[in-house]
Parts: sequence; C-alpha cells; structure tokens
Amino acid sequence: MQDLGGKPVIVRTYEAAQATGLFDQVYVVTDSDVIFKEIEWHGGNAIMSQKEHDCGTDRIAEAVEEMDVDIVVNVQGDEPFTSKEGLEQVLRVFDGADAAKIDLASLMTEIHDWREISDPNAVKVVVDKENFALYFSRSPIPYPRDKNAAVQYFKHKGIYAFRKQALLDFYRLPMTIIEATEKIECIRFLEYGKRIKMAVSNTQGIEIDTPEDLVRANKALKEEKRLPINNKYRNFPMVPKVVFGRGCFDQLTSIIGPHRKDKAPFIFLVDEVFKNKASVISRIPLRFNDKLLFISAFEEPKTEQVDVLVKSIKTEFTYRPSGIIGIGGGSILDLAKAVSIMLTNKGQASEYQGWDLVKNKAVYHVGIPTISGTGAEVSRTTVLTGPEKKLGINSDFTPFDQVVLDPELTDGVPKNQWFYTGMDCFIHCVESLNGTFLNEFSKSYGEKAYDLCLEIFLDPKVSAETAQEKLMMASWHGGMSIAYSQVGVAHAMSYGLSYVLGVKHGVGNCIVFQHLEAYYAKDVALFKQMIQQHGISLPQGICRDLTPQQMDTMVAIALSLSPLWENALGPDWEQQINAGVLKSLYQKM
Ligand code: NAD
Ligand code: ZN
Repeated sequence: MQDLGGKPVIVRTYEAAQATGLFDQVYVVTDSDVIFKEIEWHGGNAIMSQKEHDCGTDRIAEAVEEMDVDIVVNVQGDEPFTSKEGLEQVLRVFDGADAAKIDLASLMTEIHDWREISDPNAVKVVVDKENFALYFSRSPIPYPRDKNAAVQYFKHKGIYAFRKQALLDFYRLPMTIIEATEKIECIRFLEYGKRIKMAVSNTQGIEIDTPEDLVRANKALKEEKRLPINNKYRNFPMVPKVVFGRGCFDQLTSIIGPHRKDKAPFIFLVDEVFKNKASVISRIPLRFNDKLLFISAFEEPKTEQVDVLVKSIKTEFTYRPSGIIGIGGGSILDLAKAVSIMLTNKGQASEYQGWDLVKNKAVYHVGIPTISGTGAEVSRTTVLTGPEKKLGINSDFTPFDQVVLDPELTDGVPKNQWFYTGMDCFIHCVESLNGTFLNEFSKSYGEKAYDLCLEIFLDPKVSAETAQEKLMMASWHGGMSIAYSQVGVAHAMSYGLSYVLGVKHGVGNCIVFQHLEAYYAKDVALFKQMIQQHGISLPQGICRDLTPQQMDTMVAIALSLSPLWENALGPDWEQQINAGVLKSLYQKM
C-alpha cells in the first residue's frame, strides 16, 4: 500500500500487468480488506482469498481452482515495473518444442555485481543446458571456489507462469524442508520433481523488497516520466543518403539498383494525382515483378490502411520486398515508412504508435516528396491515425534510407495546398524556435528554415522556380529542427481537429495558428500577412456544430500530447492549459 508516484505499489503492479495486453483477465488475490478495496476503487478486479496461506502461489491456486483457465501467471505484488517483454518471454516458453515437458515457467536475469550475487534478498538460480531450473538459492550458486571463474550468475525474477494443474498440485503438496529453509517457494516444485523452464529477460525493472527500493523506485518513476519528453541527449539517426536538384528523379534506377534482391520486388507507393501524369509515371523504373500502387491522399494515413497494404504485399509476394518507395506528399511518405516497418515487425501498426516500440529494422525505404513542407522526408516519425489515437511510429527505424529531392516534382501543386503544406514548415519552425526544448542544434536548422519561409512567402522578388527549391530545403531543415525539439500548441490542437473532424494536417495547423496570438504573437501577425499576400482563404466555423462529446474528445486528444505542451510552455504547462482554455480556443475556429 506504500505510495509509488501517487498510487499504491499494488495498483501500479496491477495496471502494469493489465497494460501488457497479454492476458484475458488480471486479478489481485489478497487476504487484506484494504488492498481489496483499493483495487476495486481503481476499477480493477480483486479476489479475497478465504484461507490463511504461507505464500502467494497457494493463494493464487485457491483463487483459480474453480476457474476455467489454461495458464496462470503469478506477478508478485511488489513488481510494479513488470515489463511486457518479460511476461511475453515467460509465456512464449509454452509455444516451444519442449512445451509438453514444462510444468511451469519463470524468468531470470543476468547479474554481474558481486554485491548482488551475494545479497540474500536476491534469489539466484542455476539451470541445465535447456534452461530447466536445477536449483534456487539465496546463496551464490554456483559457489566460485576460484574467484576468477567465468561463470554467469542469474537472478530469479518473481514471475511464474503455471499450467493450472501444476499450480493445483503445488497447493495440495505440503511444504518441503528445503523450501522452508531457504524461504523460496519454487523449490517445492523441484523437490516434487516438477520441471521449471527459465526464460531470460535482461530488462531490469526495480523490485521493491525494502524501503530503500521504494525510494529508488519513486525516483526512477519520476525520471521515466520525464524521459520520453525532454530527454536532454537524443541519439537519433539521420537520412544517410540524399540527392538534390531538378531532374534528379531520373537517378532512381541507379540508386535503387544495388538494393535489388533476387526475385524480391520493389513496391512503389505513388500518390494517385500522378495517375495520368506520364511525365512522372513513365520515369518510374519498374523492373521484373516490381509493383506500382496508386494511393489516394484524400484521407491521412491510418494504421488500418497500413495493415491492409502490408497484408496484400505479403499475400502477393513470396519474397519480402527489396524496398518500398514512396512518391507523394507527407501522407504517402508516412505510409511508405509505416509499410516498410510493418513488413518486418509482426502484429498491427497501431501497436507501434508511440516512441521506440519498433523492434526490427524496416525494409529499405526511399522517400520522394512531391510537395514540400511537412519535413516527413527527413523525420523520425510516421504520423498515423489509429483506433485510439493519432500518433506517430517514432523510432530509429522510421527514417528513410534514401531521399530524392527533385523540386520539379512539385510542379502542379494547387495553390491553397502549396500554402497549407508550406505553412506546416513555417509553423514547425515557430514552434521549435519558441519552444523550451530548443538547443543550438535545433536552432541552427530552425532559423534557416524560418528565414527561407519568409523569403518564399513574403518576398515577391523570388521566382516560382527558386521558391520551389527553397521550400524543398526549408521543409528539410524544418524537419531537422524538430528532430531535436518538438512541435507545440498549433500541432497539439490541430491533431484534435484532425482526429474528430478529419481536418488535414496543413490546413488544420493554419486554422489553429491564426488564433494563437497569445502564444506566438509576432509570427501569427506574419502568418496573417502571408495569407493576405497570397489570397488564401481558410475554412471558417468548423467547430460551430460540434456535439459536446466531440468537443470533449477533441480537447482530450490535444491535451494528451504532453511533450508538445511541455515544449511550448515548459514543465508546468498544466497550470496554463486545461480543457476550458482549449474549448474557448476551439470555439473560435
Ligand atoms: P498530402 O500528402 O496529404 O498531400 C496533399 C494534397 O496534395 C493531396 O491531395 C495530394 O494528392 C496533393 N499533391 C501532392 N503532390 C502533388 C503534386 N506534385 N501535384 C499536385 N498535387 C499534389 O500533404 P502533405 O501536407 O504533404 O502531408 C500531410 C501529411 O503529412 C499528414 O498526414 C501529416 O500527418 C503528415 N506529416 C508527417 C510528418 C512527419 O514527420 N512524418 C510531419 C508533418 C506532417
Ligand atoms: Zn506538422
């Protein structure tokens, strides 16, 4: 019941188990009224155990005796940092070739520090060649007679996955003397000849066995909360290869050639607007079984759309593609990135929305922008609308392996669209340069892109061709600027508009930005000047007929983007921004 970052440890553990999404049901089994009520109060499932028990396993056995279950996982109440990875590993054991021999599975982690090896609070385990447990002990095992012995020590982690029968057997069999001596419950299994398969997990969570652990855990939690937001040092990948210049699109054949693998096709995802544009299509180097798919950018990319595309590619081709090549605006570029990731990562795209959730390297992917401003060609994210959120797949594997910047390809972009997408770049710069995350790295890119935008959108002397070239580079620099910082208020609110009303990114940013004098006064004035100079009209009154529920959703989506708010307003942003503030802003739009 001790507090861990505002909630009792047991509630945190419960929520962590629930959040893995690996279980049909999660329960807390307890003999304490206080714990029972606390869990129910937080909306969880709790079971009161009837009898006195010597250990948690007995208590769980009693609880599942009448349940129709195959595998029961025991997560100790003091393991709030239980990771999905560890639980997945312990469950995966039951899919292995030797599954029939396994009565239960548990987890171990490598340890190296002699203090920990000799600490009786850390239970050590030794295993046979197939990772079946031989013995558990609070003593260092094996005992190193020769202190330089090259032996690997493993610490047991208190997570068990039982076949129901093994659990019930355990419950009925009396405690054994060795178990009682070491006070390690799983020894009972070994003494009765059961087989425990150990999975290795090296993700280190903090276990809470002592008051000092709790202090450390509270500290770690605070750091963890801060970590994904303003992590001071980011070691991020950049696009390794880029070619620039009018007509460089024709280099594509020689660029992708060396990446072609025998029988594995290149898949070209091309914006549908080019369907009848022979001047572009005829230059796409289709060879052998390569495939060209025309994709509509009418709606912004969805996780489901990615899943459908990946499935169709996997169904049609036996070989994993040599590469994915996206030709289009931010929408198509993001789709190309997401498809290349999902070809090598299992499950659904929505499972990877967030920061650093992608496990495997994507297939080779090339981005060829045909409209400039989003910075999607250079960024580490692919923005997707999923069933629950609009959020990017932000990972080291997301950026393109190759980008082709040919300003000629942006011929024919309708004026309004040119402006909206171009303003995405301007707003990226404004939000980055005025943000609290700004550093010299971001600033050097942001300032350049900002100046280019002023030339492109305010200086009448710049020719159309030069403006195309400048905007292409502004987009690149704007994207680089947010790589080390973050976007801000306009993007957070634009995501809300997009999620509820399907308003597209560029125009959504513009609709929001004109009302943000309170946050970006000087740049909102410049923006209005640009609007006027180019005779751009923005949709009006789009929030007028929202239902209260729609408004609430919109506000909730915007508020959920804490890194954006923190960048815009600092760590205490919640004192300045709340649902009321956002509602009154949205009502103006
Ligand atoms: P887009 O890709 O949605 O395209 C906008 C319109 O322009 C479409 O109708 C498209 O068919 C048309 N178009 C594109 N090139 C054309 C050309 N050469 N000639 C004629 N018409 C052309 O627009 P966008 O503004 O580039 O991208 C918006 C998307 O980018 C959103 O989905 C947004 O979430 C995403 N985005 C991603 C990032 C990132 O870092 N990954 C950053 C910002 C925005
Ligand atoms: Zn943007």
